[in-house]
Amino acid sequence: MPHDSDTTFVYRFGDGSAEGSKEMKALLGGKGANLNEMSALGLPVPPGFTITTEACHYYNDHDGDWPRGMQDEVEGGIAHLETLMDRTLGDAEAPLLVSVRSGAAVSMPGMMDSVLNLGLNDDTVAGLARATGNARFAYDAYRRLIDMFGDVVAGVPHRRFEDVMTELKDERGAANDLDLTADDLRTLVDRYRALFEDETGEPFPSDPREQLRRAIDAVFDSWRNERAVKYRKINNITGLRGTAVNVQAMVYGNMGEQSGTGVCFTRNPATGENKLFGEFLPNAQGEDVVAGIRTPRDIQELQDLMPAIYDELQEVRRTLEAHYGDMQDLEFTIQDGTLYILQTRDGKRTGPAAIKIAVDMVDEELIDRRRAVAHLVEPRHLDQLLHPHFDEDADYEDDVLGTGLPASPGAAVGRAVFSADDAEAAAKNGEDVILVRTETSPEDVGGMDAAQGIITSRGGMTSHAAVVARGWGKPCVAGCDALTVYEDEKRFTNGSVTIHAGDWISMDGATGAVIRGKVPLVEPEMTGAFSTFMAWVDEFRTLGVRANADTADDAQQALDFGAAGIGLCRTEHMFFGDERILAMREMILADTEDARRDALDALRPHQRSDFADIFRVMDGHPVTIRLLDPPLHEFLPNDAAGQKKLAERAGVSVDAVREKVEALEEFNPMLGHRGCRLGITVPALTEMQTRAIIEAALDVQADGISVHPEIMVPLVSTRAEFDDQRRVIERTIQTVFDEREASVDVHIGTMIEVPRAALQAESIGAAADFFSFGTNDLTQMTFGYSRDDAGSFLPSYVDEGLLPEDPFQALDQEGVGELVRLGTERGRTANPELPVGICGEHGGEPSSIAFCYEAGLDYVSCSPFRVPIARLAAAQAAIKADA
Ligand code: ADP
Ligand code: MG
Ligand code: MG
Repeated sequence: MPHDSDTTFVYRFGDGSAEGSKEMKALLGGKGANLNEMSALGLPVPPGFTITTEACHYYNDHDGDWPRGMQDEVEGGIAHLETLMDRTLGDAEAPLLVSVRSGAAVSMPGMMDSVLNLGLNDDTVAGLARATGNARFAYDAYRRLIDMFGDVVAGVPHRRFEDVMTELKDERGAANDLDLTADDLRTLVDRYRALFEDETGEPFPSDPREQLRRAIDAVFDSWRNERAVKYRKINNITGLRGTAVNVQAMVYGNMGEQSGTGVCFTRNPATGENKLFGEFLPNAQGEDVVAGIRTPRDIQELQDLMPAIYDELQEVRRTLEAHYGDMQDLEFTIQDGTLYILQTRDGKRTGPAAIKIAVDMVDEELIDRRRAVAHLVEPRHLDQLLHPHFDEDADYEDDVLGTGLPASPGAAVGRAVFSADDAEAAAKNGEDVILVRTETSPEDVGGMDAAQGIITSRGGMTSHAAVVARGWGKPCVAGCDALTVYEDEKRFTNGSVTIHAGDWISMDGATGAVIRGKVPLVEPEMTGAFSTFMAWVDEFRTLGVRANADTADDAQQALDFGAAGIGLCRTEHMFFGDERILAMREMILADTEDARRDALDALRPHQRSDFADIFRVMDGHPVTIRLLDPPLHEFLPNDAAGQKKLAERAGVSVDAVREKVEALEEFNPMLGHRGCRLGITVPALTEMQTRAIIEAALDVQADGISVHPEIMVPLVSTRAEFDDQRRVIERTIQTVFDEREASVDVHIGTMIEVPRAALQAESIGAAADFFSFGTNDLTQMTFGYSRDDAGSFLPSYVDEGLLPEDPFQALDQEGVGELVRLGTERGRTANPELPVGICGEHGGEPSSIAFCYEAGLDYVSCSPFRVPIARLAAAQAAIKADA
């Protein structure tokens, strides 16, 4: 029976049906929506009910009051569980026990904690012992409740309970928790209760309804705790109403050797291998697997231990993958030989795994190509695929300090740091660091984010460090137990070698190796699955993707990654290098037109051969070359030695050089004598560059290579500026054609990077062959933020929410984007066929790419390494628009 979501705060599930579904993540959270869905699918899910995120929002908005009606609905939910379980909350003979579990629309690993075994007190624990004939189990469940309730609800740190437990184990000579007897656990419960009362000044609440109410409130409260807020911030999670709360009948993995609990992925999340992957613990409950209390066993061992359960799990795996069309990450519990599924969600995975899973699932006909491209691989996965790994030839065997679990692939090199704060501080200074911890906790996420890689000496493949790192695609080695980490003393040791804070170390998240010193890194190679997947991407993509490349090597890299051309070739670097910079400086110093031309003539052959190399590589593809852009003084020497050398070469006095340097200094070079303003005041510069481009194009074309040069005039703000430069360029082209008695098709266009140019795009568009939005400068000038000085205020703007994001990273769609839209529209009013692209940093950023697609641009241009990412983002934008 579907509900009216305005007035309903509780959705019930169990026994093969459910009031909610997987589409309701925003309202029921991911965990709740999927529990409902699995229940309706007929999977063995213990019955329960989900309290909505709207209820959480209300609670946080009204000083902790529940919305009207929720109390009754919760009672109704409990009655539903009582009926299905044939047990009663608080009943001494057949007590109903429940878990209270948080779960928002977006999964936040470890952010909000669950409380299990609610409903136990001195009466019901005795009833549970009698009903199960297992007193050990009953008291084990009870001590867990006091611990979890104490920690999550009443603020008594879990560590305190652990200390009490360790003390008792020592007294009894017990190696681990399984060695404690029923009587021991009864004693433990007494001590836990005493601890609870000592710490909180109140006795442990024995009324199950009070336990339940307070646990629900604690989950609601946890939405606003520091860790949760920080996690949302780092991951840019906005617009959520709160967390949902799931109240679910308990099943017990701690009832004996035919019981257990585990977590697994339907495929290997590190490699993508099509095989159940995970861990389980016999005779244990819930959190034990993740908490690393005992060493978990490989899920494959279940095949021998409980073959029927293993087969059933395989069946569940097939059902879930077919139903969700994706790899799943699930939690299960085995109670005395019966399997229960407690959670499923799309599994986080590494880049290589994402590609392999997408391609395999299409081959297995579980999904189609459209779904694979739209949902199974994220742009950041490709980013990760393109991550470096150790050089094959690197010889570091002797420097390996220890080998832990290969928790998240990718290699990293950095200085060792031992706290999240140190990692954040070092990263602020632009230093590469590796965070080394005994284990990580949610408080460390800031430092984990800042580090190049993470190493822990404790914990398994599903430890906090491993889960978070994989989600981010960050290299991680977990559970490297050869190392002892002394966090307070900022050092770690493997017994023979000690590494202190600041020492260089390397790590390989694919092998688990932790290494002393710096191991050389190399770029990765693409697998066959990668090209298969990228070919599918291009089936859906309509937006073109070019690359920003200044050299033949970069151009080759861009082509290898699937670029359709070069959208921005900057020429300024071509003026550096020993010979060239001197000629350039002579040109700048020149007093007479002739002297200037001589200097430029000396530069031309260099430019020509650089362009020729690029054209040769880009056979058949367009190459957009931007004329010289930066202010001239950037090319002049500021030091005495450099000025002296230049004076000697140019045959002038050192004073003359110094005067020239001073004369060229500007208060505000970004808004000064640069871009087309140079070409307009020094037409010989534009002539030289044009001549070099055309000569190179004709040379290469003569070798049978197809050349498509596009000359781009930078920093235009008026039509007159563009006309001026176009005249110079056209005249020069004609001269070269005449000299060579040959010709080539050349386009002459402009960058739109000054707001005025966007406004005047209709006029400029009538004269230009193409537009390319230079969104770096356009952002600077639209906001009036100097990109080089924004570091002092932009981060706090973003922190305080004055800006949603750094506009130099993600295009400001509202303001700068408005100019892009309007400039495109106006340009195409003058020339409906006008090709329009974008060549700022934004060309490689997924949300900006989606914007460019919607704004009707023809292509984006980005750095070669982002080309695959841009192709995927463009395909996803097209699929989304088509849906
Ligand atoms: P998290 O988001 O930290 O994984 P969960 O709500 O999933 O938190 O629960 C923590 C652990 O407790 C998991 O291992 C889960 O399977 C287990 N658990 C939760 N509810 C129940 C239940 N009703 N019966 C048995 N185990 C449960
Ligand atoms: Mg948890
Ligand atoms: Mg869970």
